[in-house]
Amino acid sequence: MKITILGSGPSYGMPSLTRGFGECDPDEPKNVRFRSAILLSDKGTQILFDTPPEIRLQLLTIKNRKLDALCYTHLHYDHTGGADDVNKMIQDQGRSLDVYAQKQDMDYFKKHQAYIFKDKYYHLHEVKFYKSFKVNHLSILPIKQYHDDILSVGYRIGNIAYSTDVRTLDEKSWQLLEGIDTWILGGVAYKENKKHVSMDEALHWIEKLQPKRVFLTHIGAHMDYKKLCQKLPKNIRPCYDGMVINIKT
Ligand SMILES: [Zn+2]
Repeated sequence: MKITILGSGPSYGMPSLTRGFGECDPDEPKNVRFRSAILLSDKGTQILFDTPPEIRLQLLTIKNRKLDALCYTHLHYDHTGGADDVNKMIQDQGRSLDVYAQKQDMDYFKKHQAYIFKDKYYHLHEVKFYKSFKVNHLSILPIKQYHDDILSVGYRIGNIAYSTDVRTLDEKSWQLLEGIDTWILGGVAYKENKKHVSMDEALHWIEKLQPKRVFLTHIGAHMDYKKLCQKLPKNIRPCYDGMVINIKT
């Protein structure tokens, strides 16, 4: 199995219109970050997680663009803005696509992006927390996450979990994350805030969960790639756009 980090950036992207590269080295290509999405590929099955506004450019870097499912983490624009580009791609491929999202997110899509989500190419399926579903041979377990005033969905596939845009987790979610080897943890913030876990707290979470490897994604203008590499323990690595994580299954 492999996971491609299509985008590792914060909601504003990097460089951003107002912050530029912030505290990050502008000469380091790994500090150029599109908004966050990942592509999971295993034995011919491909699952896309989120459609950020740059998804067209992100998918152009991938040779095989045949998707088997699209799983949404939540409805914020930085995770959904490119929905129409994927819809058009599916249409041109002469296919349809199973799309998984929370009920509230599906309602939002149908109301605010009706022309994209009401047509026949996207087949919407409601994600129910803690109830796994299948995409070909892969079993996907949705995990409840608290993200500011909304819920976001974390996804566990075997011993891997993708947990982005999360401020807190409840006891059940912690239980369901137990035993993961590879954790892609997204949206870790520089400081305390109500939307995202802070770096100090994330380190406690990692200590608690003890995954073998952690990849930090959805990282912002305070987080320089090289500085993070130096500062963090070897089993915790910052992501960069185009990074490929190989996983033995
Ligand atoms: Zn968000």
